[in-house]
Amino acid sequence: KKKIAVMTSGGDSPGMNASVRAVVRAGIYYGCDVYAVYEGYKGLLEGGSLLKKMEWSDVRGYLSEGGTLIGTARCMEFRERWGRKQAAKNLITEGIDALVVCGGDGSLTGADLFRHEWPSLLEELVSDKVFTEQDIEPYKHLNIVGLVGSIDNDMSGTDSTIGAFSALERIIEMVDYIDETAKSHSRAFVVEVMGRHCGWLALMAGIATGADYIFIPERAPKCGEWQKELKEVCQRHRDKGRRNNTVIVAEGAIDDQLNPITSENVKDVLVEMGLDTRVTILGHVQRGGTAVAHDRWLGTMQGVEAVKAILEMTPETPSPLIGIRENKIITMPLVESVKLTKEVASSIDNKDFDKAISLRDSEFIE
Ligand code: ADP
Repeated sequence: KKKIAVMTSGGDSPGMNASVRAVVRAGIYYGCDVYAVYEGYKGLLEGGSLLKKMEWSDVRGYLSEGGTLIGTARCMEFRERWGRKQAAKNLITEGIDALVVCGGDGSLTGADLFRHEWPSLLEELVSDKVFTEQDIEPYKHLNIVGLVGSIDNDMSGTDSTIGAFSALERIIEMVDYIDETAKSHSRAFVVEVMGRHCGWLALMAGIATGADYIFIPERAPKCGEWQKELKEVCQRHRDKGRRNNTVIVAEGAIDDQLNPITSENVKDVLVEMGLDTRVTILGHVQRGGTAVAHDRWLGTMQGVEAVKAILEMTPETPSPLIGIRENKIITMPLVESVKLTKEVASSIDNKDFDKAISLRDSEFIE
């Protein structure tokens, strides 16, 4: 009987619960035993009560709950080889040789490294006399499948990550609220949104709320020149009768010299125009609340696909990442997607913004 473990890791995102539920139930449906790893990689390292066998009813009600019910954590020890060795020991002790990880690029990088090192970790556990050759015989390969759970929508090769549309929904609700009070007082608001090095949330929220101006890392404005344009645009909108101004700033916004553009920088420019200006940093409300339909659906479809991928895997299959492209659930090599995602960040660092955008949208050949 195949034993599969499912875990959530890194930053939480709405829809992670849907994916855990789907892995548990699809796994049981296909005749596997399914375990939940509580508290991210910490659960793998500590084992024991943090590795729990799941029954069908254990995930009842998961679809409508926000966050991740099995917990998540940042785990420094998993970055160390000894930590991963400890994790391997716990998995083999439970008889688990397949792992579904729902997390961001850090978690998925760690997962792929773990799979890569697996054979040598096992050899060490044998030479340390923790296991015998016979013990490890059935566990020669670790099957890993990645699901991208992130509100940032920052993974190359997949159109959306689990949680991004929920965070976007939260943001536009908040901006709508802000716009109402702003209009009443004729104020300007600078709204800072999450996204780390990715401007997707800011861009989509800006379009969905009709913001005056949007700052995102992928379209860095010219150093020292954006201030003039920002003023002109806001003034033009005021001249047309708009009673408020809204500027959305991605937390990773920069200019073309890679200087950060902060919400305070933007506020200063609006104040110079004589506008009564306030800053709202939305913060963690963006992660909260239940998942929107898209994320529940995405988590569910991808969770089922992850179980299927595990059942079809051979030792030669590269670790897959389950994504979505043009409304179809797709499978792509995890390493390539993580590598491309890192290339996007480095092209931004190298001021090659066009390359960053083309890499973000790049196509994968399965
Ligand atoms: P995210 O998955 O949201 O990008 P992090 O980058 O914080 O979040 O990663 C979550 C966890 O994944 C880390 O706390 C660590 O345990 C593990 N991890 C991240 N990067 C690596 C790595 N390069 N090697 C091993 N483990 C890693």
